[in-house]
Amino acid sequence: MPGEIAGQVHTHADGTTHAHGAHGADHDHDHDHDHAHGHPHGHDHVHGQDPHPDHAHTPTALQVPGRDTQTIALEAAVLGKNQALAERNRGWLAGRRVLALNLMSSPGAGKTTLLERCIRDLQGQVGIAVVEGDQATENDAERIRATGVAAVQVNTGTGCHLEADMLQRALQRLQPAPGSLLMIENVGNLVCPALFDLGEHARVVIFSVTEGEDKPLKYPHMFKAADVLLLSKTDLLPHLRVDLQRMIDNARVVNPGLAIFPVSAYSGEGLDAWYGWLRGELAGLGAAA
Ligand code: MG
Repeated sequence: MPGEIAGQVHTHADGTTHAHGAHGADHDHDHDHDHAHGHPHGHDHVHGQDPHPDHAHTPTALQVPGRDTQTIALEAAVLGKNQALAERNRGWLAGRRVLALNLMSSPGAGKTTLLERCIRDLQGQVGIAVVEGDQATENDAERIRATGVAAVQVNTGTGCHLEADMLQRALQRLQPAPGSLLMIENVGNLVCPALFDLGEHARVVIFSVTEGEDKPLKYPHMFKAADVLLLSKTDLLPHLRVDLQRMIDNARVVNPGLAIFPVSAYSGEGLDAWYGWLRGELAGLGAAA
């Protein structure tokens, strides 16, 4: 149970602390997490040496007036601990030549649908395993398992992003095969997931053509942090008043180095170019392609 609430730092009865950023102080801490290791637990258990600070937000919050140095120091500690675990994951994955991609987007951009299509198209050519991150439900993992590949669902409760320790536990369960592709579908939002390295090889933002041309300018951290941008749902373009080129230009203003692929999971348009990128990365790791 939460102990005291001091400003934006919450101290739990077991001594663990959570640093809060741009959130209001009104959200519920007495929540449960159903982690990848399969035993749901609340925050009133003893964390021991493994606190999981799941509400750390955000370097941008450093600009918020009135935040004290203690809060900022805690955020730095939370991000630092995550970074250390992410590096451990990265080493584990590299040792097995597993190509791990962190897929990030708003809710509804079509991550799971695109994943289903990619799995159908690439199955038999490369081993694939999936980690599904959502606040609640097993729905997406069940959709992925229906394609025949292994999937672990990670529910983050009120958490708005995956963290490196969650991926670590999911990897222990999944045990992806050497030379395989690991797709990590992050919790849907364009803010928090950008701040937490999971140890992935590359970050892929999925951004649907229905979302508005100026999203890359409004959410620059996500687009800056990405290696690849998949512009999804291009089959809808004839029905929209949206300028695809302007979307691409806005993304490049924020991150000139982005590899950008307009794709449609329904028509299949553009997917060959995306698969070409994947094969190149797999070959670069010495993995099967
Ligand atoms: Mg999904």
